Amino acid sequence: MYGKIKEFLTDELNSIESNGLLKKERIIITPQGANVKINSGEEVVIMCANNYLGLSSHPEVINAAKSALDSHGYGMSSVRFICGTQDIHKELERKIADFYGTEDTILYAAAFDANGGVFEPLFGEQDAIISDELNHASIIDGVRLAKAHRYRYKHSDMNDLEQQLIKAQDQRFRIIVTDGVFSMDGDLAKMDEICALAEKYDALVMTDECHSAGFIGKTGRGVPEHFGVMDKVDIITGTLGKALGGAMGGYTTGKKEIIELLRQRSRPYLFSNSLAPAIVGASLKVFELLSSTTELRDKLEENTLFFKENIKAAGFDIKPGDSPIVPIMLYDAALSQKFANRLLEEGVYAVGFFYPVVAKGQARIRTQISAAHSKADLDKAIAAFIKVGKELGVIN
Ligand SMILES: *Cc1c(COP(=O)(O)O)cnc(C)c1O
Repeated sequence: MYGKIKEFLTDELNSIESNGLLKKERIIITPQGANVKINSGEEVVIMCANNYLGLSSHPEVINAAKSALDSHGYGMSSVRFICGTQDIHKELERKIADFYGTEDTILYAAAFDANGGVFEPLFGEQDAIISDELNHASIIDGVRLAKAHRYRYKHSDMNDLEQQLIKAQDQRFRIIVTDGVFSMDGDLAKMDEICALAEKYDALVMTDECHSAGFIGKTGRGVPEHFGVMDKVDIITGTLGKALGGAMGGYTTGKKEIIELLRQRSRPYLFSNSLAPAIVGASLKVFELLSSTTELRDKLEENTLFFKENIKAAGFDIKPGDSPIVPIMLYDAALSQKFANRLLEEGVYAVGFFYPVVAKGQARIRTQISAAHSKADLDKAIAAFIKVGKELGVIN
């Protein structure tokens, strides 16, 4: 009986393609790293991975994964509360809490699940969730699953946030939710001002640290550390799938009663498989590395400054911000695609983003810097940007 829907789906796909919105995947045939080989045989510098600290293929991380595979097996074949909890799961939860200075942590298969499962158990009909309009899709979906009243404030607009908080005063509990670093622009949430408003209007604060855990802040504790408000944030969610090794997995960390209720009621935790031992073992190593030295986040900061300075000096227009996400603005959608394709021919792998991923007329190449990039890698990327930029009339 597939007939009718097949036609419908084919039309839908055709319309996505004819609007130029079809996402095509390039194939990499080596591990993730500063340099990869793609299936055409070319060696390219990666400028668009979330591998901020270069840990995705770090030898110590790989070795830790291998030893956990030997000591704790391949899979758990269970959710956590049936027979899916090993000593290393508890150890990792403790380690993440120690890293943030929080009381407890709960692991998920992904940060998408952490955000998807955090609101519904904690906030009901009598409560309010107040969310930045540019928050990640997983927060938006998580909020949709809760019965709480929803308020949305204009991106990083503290006056608007205050207005929403005033409107939400009739509700029992309030929580302000924000991405720590917004991934498309690379800007940081104004966490100090958000926490001050939360105090004034009696609200909790939650931040999603997916694009900041491990490298934003003096010791890499994230956006709350950057603004000196680590003790004022109630709930932190994050991913193990970006800077922290890049495999997969997510977590929620914060006050112990909150975490305990999530263990009892959070649906993606209760009804989805336990994190694989190899990932848990490797993640323990990641947090050990990050707790012992700030070398990688310092290198990342240095690399980011170097890349930004050179790209700006070449005449490109970039979005300001304190993160290693450097959006190079082209404004025109077709140009962003052409630019990215030409970059690849020059040995630089970067992606052009345009509407609806970013606002209309705001097309860009979003570059992401890594501690794994050598000076030579960054020089190669800068030279390619300049060459293609001149060729396509973006710079003189
Ligand atoms: C990537 C990302 C997620 C999802 O993380 P996964 O662990 O890959 O599911 C959630 N929130 C933000 C802000 C992200 O950037």
